[in-house]
Amino acid sequence: MNTIYLDNNATTKIAPEVLDEMLPYLTDLYGNPSSMHTFGGSLHKKIEEAREKVATLLGAEPEEIIFTSCGTESDNTALMSAVESYPHKRHIITTRVEHPAVFNFIKHLARKGLRVTFIPVDNLGRFDMDTFLKALDDDVVVVSVMYANNESGVIFPIEKIGQILRERKIIFHTDAVQAVGKIPINLKKLPVDMLSLSGHKLHAPKGVGALYVRRGTRFYPYIIGGHQENGRRAGTENLASIIGLGKACELAMKNMEKEIVYLCKLRDKLEKRLIELCPDTRVNGDRENRLPNTTNISFEYVEGEAILLRLNEYGICVSSGSACTSGSLEPSHVLRAMGVPFTAIHGSIRFSLSRYNTEEEIDSVIEIMPKIIKDLRELSPFGKEKIK
Ligand code: PLP
Repeated sequence: MNTIYLDNNATTKIAPEVLDEMLPYLTDLYGNPSSMHTFGGSLHKKIEEAREKVATLLGAEPEEIIFTSCGTESDNTALMSAVESYPHKRHIITTRVEHPAVFNFIKHLARKGLRVTFIPVDNLGRFDMDTFLKALDDDVVVVSVMYANNESGVIFPIEKIGQILRERKIIFHTDAVQAVGKIPINLKKLPVDMLSLSGHKLHAPKGVGALYVRRGTRFYPYIIGGHQENGRRAGTENLASIIGLGKACELAMKNMEKEIVYLCKLRDKLEKRLIELCPDTRVNGDRENRLPNTTNISFEYVEGEAILLRLNEYGICVSSGSACTSGSLEPSHVLRAMGVPFTAIHGSIRFSLSRYNTEEEIDSVIEIMPKIIKDLRELSPFGKEKIK
């Protein structure tokens, strides 16, 4: 059975070109880039080459990029750096729909005495600008707003938020883990001070990420030890993965324009046909302004877990916003924040595509899914009368 992988917001396949670039550094070229001898020390230039590629994708300068171990570390580092750099300020602003890498870290800071404002979203998952403007005060140490949501795919108005914060000289961090490599980001024009990304969301390996820190932004390291990354992130560099991340950024840069068109076409076909073929179905999130690869669909009167398990029997991989399958006991905090009714949250499925998906795969899902939904509704005590 072939796998049809539609869970690319969870993680992506390593691009073959990325793996090829990495392999020598996992085998023969195993030196430590900090060593004095040529065998190790000469590898340092590979890190700098990768740094340049990451910077190019973002419209940043290479020295503004710090390699980390993952998106979570980048997020934690950015927030902690702001808090350490401005200890007299005690107010953090973020949103109700952040990934746990930001959400739970900020809750941890709140337990240590910082005050937090969680900005709500509307029923399309859009940022509430009015509440945000009212929340701003002189005590704000950092604002952290994600670039694009991992569950709904909704893109936030980062440029507008950044302009407001720049006027007030407030540090602005964005978790762009789901956006980098999928949509254009140009930090030359974007008023953002810190930005997080993660390798495994853009066809690089797991266990590598980066944090962009704009030149002139106060920075305090989170991982303290050796002098790596110019003293900004200690720990022997994950050389092969850093090289892989550089290559993945290069590929994203080269292919992004045509991938956006390709992914929107496949995603829109999937979405349109599923809505036509499955009654009592709704799309969660702002369809005008979201990632090209993501759609979040609720199938009312069915459990997301049940759908997921049935799709799994066909080798189709997706995520569900309901409890348990999302790895927590709570149904999706993102869909709850959007005011999606509980019955719809429980039947929600996130499809997230990548450049490796084909139209045939999408057609298979379009064929299989309506049967699964019909079957499950027939089994469900509430479902029967809903079948049209
Ligand atoms: N932020 C967002 C929006 C994410 O989607 C993820 C991963 O799902 C992360 C942060 C965490 O990234 P990592 O898995 O590299 O720690």
